[in-house]
Amino acid sequence: MSDFSFRVTYRSAGYARCGVLETRHGTIQTPTFMPVGTYGAVRLTSVHELREAGAQIILGNAYHLHATAGADRIHDLGGLARFCGWNGPTLTDSGGYQVSYMWNSGTHSVQGGQRIHSHKSPIRKITEDGALVKNIITGEEFLYGPEFAMEVQSKIGADIVMPFDQPTFDTDDYDAASQTLERSHRWTKRSKEHWEWLKEKGKAPEYQAFFPIIQGGRHEGLRRDSAGFSTSIAETGIAIAGESIGIDPEISEQTLRLVRNLLPLDRPLYAMGLGGGPEGFFRGVLQGVDMFDNTSPTRLGRCGLALVSPEGGSKRANRFRISLRQSQHKSSEIPIDEGCQCRVCRSHSRAYIHHLLKIGESLGARLICFHNVYFMHDLGRAIQNAIRTGNLEKLYERWMLSALLEP
Ligand SMILES: [Zn+2]
Repeated sequence: MSDFSFRVTYRSAGYARCGVLETRHGTIQTPTFMPVGTYGAVRLTSVHELREAGAQIILGNAYHLHATAGADRIHDLGGLARFCGWNGPTLTDSGGYQVSYMWNSGTHSVQGGQRIHSHKSPIRKITEDGALVKNIITGEEFLYGPEFAMEVQSKIGADIVMPFDQPTFDTDDYDAASQTLERSHRWTKRSKEHWEWLKEKGKAPEYQAFFPIIQGGRHEGLRRDSAGFSTSIAETGIAIAGESIGIDPEISEQTLRLVRNLLPLDRPLYAMGLGGGPEGFFRGVLQGVDMFDNTSPTRLGRCGLALVSPEGGSKRANRFRISLRQSQHKSSEIPIDEGCQCRVCRSHSRAYIHHLLKIGESLGARLICFHNVYFMHDLGRAIQNAIRTGNLEKLYERWMLSALLEP
């Protein structure tokens, strides 16, 4: 029996709601942002800083963790949370998206401890069995398919696990998308059946919860088919993914609208990759999304980009971010965001961080990463509070409409 439960505590405009998600390793107040530590680390941010920033759960990627540290080693070291020194819930994505993405495009990999960018994909081929992968580090070939992905996730031991599926890319025409979706559903069924078998045999933690993933690209009929299929097997929660979730906030909202009325209201909804900034967060919350993730807070931070509220001078058009590399900040005594209560904003000026960036001191990027991660969690807390007090519309207008008036 899973230790997992979810209960809705407040409802508000649209499908917006507050909820409480219980896992074996901790309680999560929703809606919430979830930081992503693909390889077991949120870039430039320690688990202590994540806790301080308000993180309630952290994410890892089973495929990348297995291809680097190895699932058996992580298992022997006490599972993902213990391995990372994180005292709280964790979630692993299976890596289905990454495998297909690498197959399509070729992408980065880790070689000799170095992250390298390569156009040579480690994915040899993808068949009905799964993906044949060549481990860049060891040279060993292995089949990463639904059954193996669930064995890896069972060993890694996160509280929430995801099926190995095949995403539908937005460039796929209807026929291609339809074929991919059918395979994705077959793989999801195989993932769930094998994971249940592992649980019966005591090889998967009894506390784990499994979230099927709605795919289907931008094809309304396919999205609705996938919503029906996912609902039929979703015992604990449901996820929605694909390029049309996360890349553009407006398209994400349109995609969520296609399926929202088909989804159960008593289970948490996780929009994979939606949460790169305030707009996606707001639009998702209004469609009843409870869980968000994105790598952007630390990706932006490493480039000198800081998330800022409208009062702090950001605009919806520039996605609520400012570049602290720009010379306009070189004498600025104000913090990154005057409304932010984070440690960085309480101690440091924009001028200081600008200086750190200019001299190539990595502390500059670290300070912005911490602020950005705090900022997304703080926005989650503000949204929860607005839902509880009936002020969500006011908060939304402050962020979205006041910003819309900007040129
Ligand atoms: Zn701050």
